[in-house]
Amino acid sequence: MNVTLTIAGSDSGGGAGIQADLKTFQELGTFGTSVITAITSQNTQGVHAVHAIPVQDVESQLKAVLDDFPIQAAKTGMLFSAAIITTVSRLMKAHNIPLVVDPVMIAKGGASLLQQEAITAMKTELLPLATVITPNIPEAEVLTGMTIVDDATMIAAGQALLTIGVKVAIIKGGHLAGSHTARDIIVSTDDIFIVETPFITTKDTHGTGCTFSAALTAELAKGTALREAVTIAKQFIQAAIQHPLHLGSGHGPTNHAA
Ligand code: PLP
Repeated sequence: MNVTLTIAGSDSGGGAGIQADLKTFQELGTFGTSVITAITSQNTQGVHAVHAIPVQDVESQLKAVLDDFPIQAAKTGMLFSAAIITTVSRLMKAHNIPLVVDPVMIAKGGASLLQQEAITAMKTELLPLATVITPNIPEAEVLTGMTIVDDATMIAAGQALLTIGVKVAIIKGGHLAGSHTARDIIVSTDDIFIVETPFITTKDTHGTGCTFSAALTAELAKGTALREAVTIAKQFIQAAIQHPLHLGSGHGPTNHAA
């Protein structure tokens, strides 16, 4: 059995964060382990409270998992603080595990999932360890300081992320204004390619970023080559958005079992 790891926040609503990651890991045939960085009180209407887990408890969870499980790929989601990023980076650096960084910053409802001062720690400590980073357009803009409006600026932002030490940058274009497709551009030192699916208009998109990066992590754990892994992850999130569960009165979860 291929073993995966998510280092992320808990979403009590079950559509994003740790819960989305573990469901996705399972759907894609891997055994998921988890390190919880924060507990969010959350439903389809939004984030009502955030409680960061003390950094020593993040550290002991991560040590426990790394010491005993043959983790084949890991992902990070909501890391919340510079102190948590520093701890996670220090421990992950000692292991040679493919790492997908989903640079979670702000929930769709506007709640902050990453403190402002943690952005520098993310860039200097975590990103140099990242095999893949999966920012959406606003996240890529924060990390690079660039303004992204089209394919050329998406590629330029991807290349800027490579200079920080990331091996592969997947710039997710779903947030581009006026877009009729969800067009993602994948940039690595030796390859640039695009994966694109029709844009689906629905309010049930909670946890899309978490689910996509978890699907990618599961495929990397299974040894799937990058291009195919990205394509499978894209298909997985497309199906999850296409078959909503209509749960709750606000932004509902995607369907991980679609
Ligand atoms: N809550 C947690 C714990 C998360 O990790 C994420 C992931 O980005 C979100 C909420 C954001 O969910 P969304 O912005 O898709 O509603």
